[in-house]
Amino acid sequence: MRVLVAGGAGYIGSVVTAALLDRGHEVTVLDDLSTGHADAVPEGATFVRASLHDSGPVLADVRPEAVLHFAAKSLVGVSQTQPEDYWHTNVGGSLALLEAMRAVDCRRIVFSSTAATYGEPESVPIREDAPTRPTNTYGASKLAVDHMLTSYAVAHSFAAVSLRYFNVAGAGFSRGERHATETHLIPIALQVAAGTRDAITVFGEDYPTPDGTCIRDYVHVLDLAEAHLLALPAPAPGEHRVYNLGNGTGFSVQQVVDAVREVTGHPVPVVVGARRAGDPAQLVASSDRIRADLGWTPQHADLTTMVADAWAQLSR
Ligand code: UDP
Repeated sequence: MRVLVAGGAGYIGSVVTAALLDRGHEVTVLDDLSTGHADAVPEGATFVRASLHDSGPVLADVRPEAVLHFAAKSLVGVSQTQPEDYWHTNVGGSLALLEAMRAVDCRRIVFSSTAATYGEPESVPIREDAPTRPTNTYGASKLAVDHMLTSYAVAHSFAAVSLRYFNVAGAGFSRGERHATETHLIPIALQVAAGTRDAITVFGEDYPTPDGTCIRDYVHVLDLAEAHLLALPAPAPGEHRVYNLGNGTGFSVQQVVDAVREVTGHPVPVVVGARRAGDPAQLVASSDRIRADLGWTPQHADLTTMVADAWAQLSR
């Protein structure tokens, strides 16, 4: 299939691009490089530097049969202080992309949504029918696009899938996770192990969890890529499906730090800090729906594997 990957120069988009190429798809990557890296775009893909807002001419040229949409701003903290950027890029940019698709009669899309659409869960594991009450603008902007896709499916016969990622970890075929401002737990802990950072601050040790630190559901980026490949052909025109992507197993911040120590063999000094605003105590996915509908079966669900793969990438 001829596909366009918006945001294919980023951490997750580049891994999915490699998986698409591997399965024989013809891929064009559209990315404005605001946070992505041109050298992350896998060999074999055509790269066009453009923003979502200027995607019209690119789609007119490429004429894709489907779009995978990863391009977004994704820092929860910044979304609270600069919400305009999140509405502009994540919502305005997505609308421009959908309109560019409609103009060339391309109506198949897989969208990167997030567990942040649910906010503080009433119960875990979180199912897709749980209430969506995001606690930050990032989650609200992703939820807005999910709603957009539902209406485009109904009104304009789009075949759409929203994949709600929990915590993506590990590394794939490409260059791994490289954020200018790193906020994520595993990459920070690995930087400490590598000696490029002095210590990791654990954000709160007084949560109602067994060891007092927050619990998250980590999913390997290669398993995530496989989910995209399964999702791409799945919906019929007029259908918008929503799937959670996680392993259904939670690991605490403390367990993650311990895994980093074990995998790297290096000390990881910890400083206990205050809770981070908006952090729910536990986010664990029920992925029963995508397992049942599409037969998705994570192959790298083990935390040690995810940490080891990310460490191998960092040391490469
Ligand atoms: N965390 C932490 N110290 C850090 C970064 C993250 O204690 O330097 C915690 C954070 O509070 C959360 C978990 O690690 O409970 C995962 O955070 P991350 O930012 O990786 O992903 P999120 O769950 O926010 O999407």
